[in-house]
Amino acid sequence: MNRRSFFQSAASVPLVGTLRAAAGPAFESRIVRLHLQHTWTTTMSSSEYRDTLQATYSRDGIAGHGEGAPIVRYQEDARSAQKAAESVRDLVLSADPLQFAKLMGEVFRRVDGEWAAKAAIDIALMDWVGQKLGIPLYTYFGLDPKDTPLTTFSIGIDTPETTRQKTREAAEYPILKVKVGLATDEPTIEAVRSVTKKPLRVDANEGWKDKEEAVRKINWLETQGVEFIEQPLPADMIEETRWIRSRVHIPIIADEACRHAADIPKLRDAFDGVNVKLDKAGGMLEAYRMIEIAKALGMKTMLGCMVSSSVSVTAAAHLSPLVDYADLDGNLLIANDPFHGVRVEKGKLVLPNRPGLGLTPA
Ligand code: MG
Repeated sequence: MNRRSFFQSAASVPLVGTLRAAAGPAFESRIVRLHLQHTWTTTMSSSEYRDTLQATYSRDGIAGHGEGAPIVRYQEDARSAQKAAESVRDLVLSADPLQFAKLMGEVFRRVDGEWAAKAAIDIALMDWVGQKLGIPLYTYFGLDPKDTPLTTFSIGIDTPETTRQKTREAAEYPILKVKVGLATDEPTIEAVRSVTKKPLRVDANEGWKDKEEAVRKINWLETQGVEFIEQPLPADMIEETRWIRSRVHIPIIADEACRHAADIPKLRDAFDGVNVKLDKAGGMLEAYRMIEIAKALGMKTMLGCMVSSSVSVTAAAHLSPLVDYADLDGNLLIANDPFHGVRVEKGKLVLPNRPGLGLTPA
């Protein structure tokens, strides 16, 4: 093999194969392009791939993996996420990883925004900590893996014909989540309903701008067997959402309106529950805090995800015994997942019984 072909073949080695756990502390961040199985359309965007930030923290021969999906709506992209992660490299390398709460507190103080970067660092540290302690992360959080909820499988916005096709392909999932919020809401739901009688959950992604229209649509959705509606109006229309809530029967869940723990108290009267995502929260520790705060306020809790690999989805799944609803299918939507982690059996999340996140290379 000549020098040139050696480097070409070295470059084609899958990323996970190159990640040997270093003895001394090491931190690596990288942008990973995840390819979608179907073009993914919501009210916000349409795309064939997503670039996420993945991070690896290595020490004592143990490698912890983390990931965060930058969210365009919050002015994040993969490059800004990587820049933010690299800005705290020295802090991460010099800190005691078993003092992860102190370390993440400092990361949160030093980095403005860039929640995907924080999530990637937090998850990598927690994966490392779980492996170091020799326990799965659900055990670290005191949870029973048998308590995981069913996850929905999401159907993005598409033509009625493709929507029917996607609904048929989702036959193994007992609950579907359907994206609406464009002019085609009723044909979309009718297309799904022409194929299945399963319970549906609907996400409008802030797509309706008018409170009367939202009430009409939500009450129609209830007649179609929809269990709850996520983020019917734009995030800042909290008063209008409160008005809607008094005129509909199914729960209203906040997603875009609920990014961090401090958002939750003001949502209490307008929403029945909150959708917590590690990418919005900045990792597992803040997501755990958000779930506990929402429960303390008597609200329903849900764990959601972005389009992600099994790294981020498995991290969320380790917290899922805590929540009422799960929408953790981001890894099922991609074609090049670098890891195996949480599995789905007839819709139920099945956590790996291995230390840390319990990931294995795909
Ligand atoms: Mg949502």
